[in-house]
Amino acid sequence: MRADLLALTPESVASLANWGLVKRALKEIDAGQGPSLAEEDDGTVVGTFGDGTVARLSPGVSLRDTRCSCPATGVCRHRVATALAYPAFAKSALAESGGGEEDATDAKTFEAWSPGEIVDEALDGLGRRTLDEAKTARRRGLVAVVRRASADEPTPSAELPSCTVRFLVPRDLAYARCDCRLAQGCSHVVLAVWAFREADARDASASELTVELRDAGARADEHGPLDDAVGLARHLVVDGVTHAREALSQRFERLRRALASEGHVWPEDALEDLERALARYRSRSARYRAEDVLAIAAELEARRRASRRDAALPAAHVLGTGEKHETALDHLRLVGLGARVEVEGPVRRVEVFLGEPDTGAVLVCSKEWSFEAPATPPIGAVDPVPDGPALARRKIAGATFGQLAAGQVVSRAAKRRANRAITFGSAHGSTSVVPQTGDWD
Ligand SMILES: [Zn+2]
Ligand SMILES: [Zn+2]
Repeated sequence: MRADLLALTPESVASLANWGLVKRALKEIDAGQGPSLAEEDDGTVVGTFGDGTVARLSPGVSLRDTRCSCPATGVCRHRVATALAYPAFAKSALAESGGGEEDATDAKTFEAWSPGEIVDEALDGLGRRTLDEAKTARRRGLVAVVRRASADEPTPSAELPSCTVRFLVPRDLAYARCDCRLAQGCSHVVLAVWAFREADARDASASELTVELRDAGARADEHGPLDDAVGLARHLVVDGVTHAREALSQRFERLRRALASEGHVWPEDALEDLERALARYRSRSARYRAEDVLAIAAELEARRRASRRDAALPAAHVLGTGEKHETALDHLRLVGLGARVEVEGPVRRVEVFLGEPDTGAVLVCSKEWSFEAPATPPIGAVDPVPDGPALARRKIAGATFGQLAAGQVVSRAAKRRANRAITFGSAHGSTSVVPQTGDWD
């Protein structure tokens, strides 16, 4: 008896193949034109069709990788039909042999199993490269949402940052299905199993659980670059920015790199803000505010504490480990919300705020110019520093800042940073700005 085939529903077969094949096969089986089935001693289920085609479903092999005598390379209708015809075949075989367990094949009651039960040996079967990939992802840390099997949804699944893995057949890795390009046998399947193990250890009864995967080594509360960043911030707060020496810039640089290599995107951003605040203090900028330094120091310490073991939030959220520092976006529509000009001596900085209708996120596109007046201005020269309207006429993304702030932009070459800063590529025609009507949906 092939428990894996019995566990397949038309829905799960469709996710291995497609609905068209499933519908056609079900129709043929209903009309009595399905394959004739036989089960060999090793468990291989053989489906023989009227035209002589033979599909062989071997145990432990997915529908895609099992054999069929037809020339199709992917999952063909023969394999689909053989799988779908199996439950009825198994049931009548059982009845003939005089029963056995009562109705093992009847009604698809869901089985409360956890993919966390899948053993390491089975994962090893996915190959060393796949395992290494999964380990690298775990070292960086990631958050997964684990959904257990229930009466409504008999297929347990794990939602990873970039894809979702579904376990169609209990305890059978061959039927773990991922919606990434590889579809099966990928590193996500390994991560999903690990996520279930983590969830089982924490709370085996919750129907849905958010867990974090992180290496024990990385999780240990050992001294890391984040502690150094907190130390630096504390030094500035305690000793005062007045005493901060220029030599600090090397320390900033080293720390920023260390945070970046750990993937700590948010602390890295905070450190950048701190250095900028310090530079403003040194240049006696009107934009320097002591509260900013305090706020950043507090942020760093708060993130450090919140990322400790057994904290309420997954550390990856707090540190931004899952965030990409910069993401290239190939299709993006943004709506201009307005602009702001910052003035400081000869420096003008324009910030245009853009709303992303799909997510409600607000992104910022900014540009800074310095209009240093010549030491001896020629007689009768006009003021070289442009005012707001003049800045609005300056060019950005094939339009002007004014048009961008009041229009909507469609771009195939934009880059978004984790901190919501956005830049537009310069390729001709990749970005276009058109007027908007205020209709923001
Ligand atoms: Zn076939
Ligand atoms: Zn995958």
